[in-house]
Amino acid sequence: MQTVQDAAGLRATIRGWRSQGHTIGFVPTMGNLHAGHHSLVKLARARTDRVVASIFVNPTQFGPNEDFERYPRTLTQDQAGLAESGCDLLFAPDVTTLYPYGAAGSVSLHVPEITDTLEGAHRPGHFDGVATVVCKLFNLAQPDIAIFGQKDLQQLKVIERMVRDLSLPVKVMGAPTQRAEDGLALSSRNQYLSETERVEAAQIYQTLQQMRDLTAKGHARKVVEQAAASKLERAGFVPDYVVIRRMDDLSEPAENEREGLVALVAARLGTTRLIDNLPFD
Ligand code: AMP
Repeated sequence: MQTVQDAAGLRATIRGWRSQGHTIGFVPTMGNLHAGHHSLVKLARARTDRVVASIFVNPTQFGPNEDFERYPRTLTQDQAGLAESGCDLLFAPDVTTLYPYGAAGSVSLHVPEITDTLEGAHRPGHFDGVATVVCKLFNLAQPDIAIFGQKDLQQLKVIERMVRDLSLPVKVMGAPTQRAEDGLALSSRNQYLSETERVEAAQIYQTLQQMRDLTAKGHARKVVEQAAASKLERAGFVPDYVVIRRMDDLSEPAENEREGLVALVAARLGTTRLIDNLPFD
């Protein structure tokens, strides 16, 4: 596997592949890769001739009091894992490659409506940063398909809307959430958890399953959401949201709606903020 840092190197390799008629799959990440990321690379591997991954801890998607500085950076280890998963090229740019005018001087994309709620409401500006960097990365890698995890469901929806709205020539695909044995969604942030917090963290998935099961039994949405939030609070979490939404656009379902729903949770455990979701069908 080749690693390139600069745009010219990336473009040269991609031009070579294109001239041979190869299709290109792309997996953008922030590094510190785990089996969740590797599953996206393997999916790309199965769908396209060449696979490009990127590692870039994007400053514009972190809020001022978030974990940009302490976000784990493990490039050498990541390179080995990517090569093993079938990645052909790793693009690992520095900040000036993606933000030649600095973060403050950069063009910024805003995807409206879908970003008003959930993560967008709790992390102001987060999705502007995500949309902006993903658009830049798409322009550089020019992939046929790009794969995103359903773990970050709202992010996937934001990217889908951006791509459709800006007519970007890339097919966006969602990939299922990879979990630890106890159900905790794999995340680079799990390593912030203490040993006891790590055990507690499995409650998020249990809560999501309970929300699905109680909804299937006909319990009212608000009651299910309230019970789930209380359960998490009793277990020591500080929830940002514990909700049931429409899978399609993450809007609030009507009281009697039972099809096409998803439960979503964001909660803090100690200093670690965890998110997860579970589609109901
Ligand atoms: P990140 O490096 O956290 O920005 O994630 C890069 C990509 O990996 C995003 O598309 C995430 O949704 C995806 N991802 C992160 N965790 C998981 C997981 N547990 N299962 C599947 N995909 C994941």
